[in-house]
Amino acid sequence: MQPRDLSAHAPYVPGRGTEEVARELGMDPEDLTKLSSNENPHGPSPKAVAAIEDAAPTVSVYPKTAHTDLTERLADKWDLAPEQVWVSPGADGSIDYLTRAMLEPDDRILEPAPGFSYYSMSARYHHGDAVQYEVSKGDDFEQTADRVLDAYDGERMVYLTTPHNPTGSVFPRDELVELADSVEDHTLLVVDEAYGEFAEEPSAIDLLSEYDNVAVLRTFSKAYGLAGLRIGYACVPEAWADAYARVNTPFAASEVACRAALAALDDEAHVEKSVESARWSRDYLREHLDAPTWESEGNFVLAEVGDATAVTEAAQREGVIVRDCGSFGLPECIRVSCGTEAQTKRAVDVLNRVV
Ligand code: PMP
Repeated sequence: MQPRDLSAHAPYVPGRGTEEVARELGMDPEDLTKLSSNENPHGPSPKAVAAIEDAAPTVSVYPKTAHTDLTERLADKWDLAPEQVWVSPGADGSIDYLTRAMLEPDDRILEPAPGFSYYSMSARYHHGDAVQYEVSKGDDFEQTADRVLDAYDGERMVYLTTPHNPTGSVFPRDELVELADSVEDHTLLVVDEAYGEFAEEPSAIDLLSEYDNVAVLRTFSKAYGLAGLRIGYACVPEAWADAYARVNTPFAASEVACRAALAALDDEAHVEKSVESARWSRDYLREHLDAPTWESEGNFVLAEVGDATAVTEAAQREGVIVRDCGSFGLPECIRVSCGTEAQTKRAVDVLNRVV
């Protein structure tokens, strides 16, 4: 007995955990500096940790699936109707929900290249396909409506990532508006703001009051430091009120995760500290790395180092884990996540030795 032919589905290979790498290197995991997955180096808010402990007894019962307190709170925060907030297991879950809501078999999405791999994976899981537009051009990673529209051919979904992963570039708001005005009626623009908190540019969520063809993704994995809890959300057009219950995975976002996210939202100081720290770290990386880097509005910096695999492996042997961007189609680049001050300085020391 075999599963159906899965050869069209690229395997998702997550970065290795610190324990596995430490074991291989014969090191203590504590001695590793992991700057490969754009996580929050300051961890979660202590308020979120307390909420997780308090919520522990709830795990024997199923969580609520819709209109949780978290939904209401997020609707309030972004001035939306609660039905417009789709809570999901990470932004990845939101991508699946939107794909299910939009794609018929053989429909296509248009996605950025280089870009986040899960957009096309989700489309293919749902019997659709993906085509790409170029984010990179020459020496810059400028994101413009024209560049998307040059590639656009009536796809059902168009993904924009801002700040972009792995480049850190942003999709300016006026370009976003131009795009929302230009695409055909059946096309949904999905603005992925997984790294939105780190950018100066305001969220595109307010566009939902004017446009019925825009959805925005957000997550608690990055600035809020809750990556392991798997909690995120999509903000969807007003007219989609009854679609959530038709596309979500039952009980996918746990009560523990929802309560932790609520507590994290209440700890603005922790988010501010995390954002400030990331901004310091990315400036430090750009200033001190002996390699060309690009301006970034995310909690990471892309650097051109020649042979990214060789550099990543050499840095790892010295206890610093960064992302080899070969899998993004950038074999000459690494992506270094923003760390604490000590982690950032260590990464620069090690990388400058091995580049
Ligand atoms: N979008 C982008 C651009 C990402 O980089 C990531 C995670 N790395 C996600 C979405 C998914 O994040 P999560 O599922 O942890 O919320």
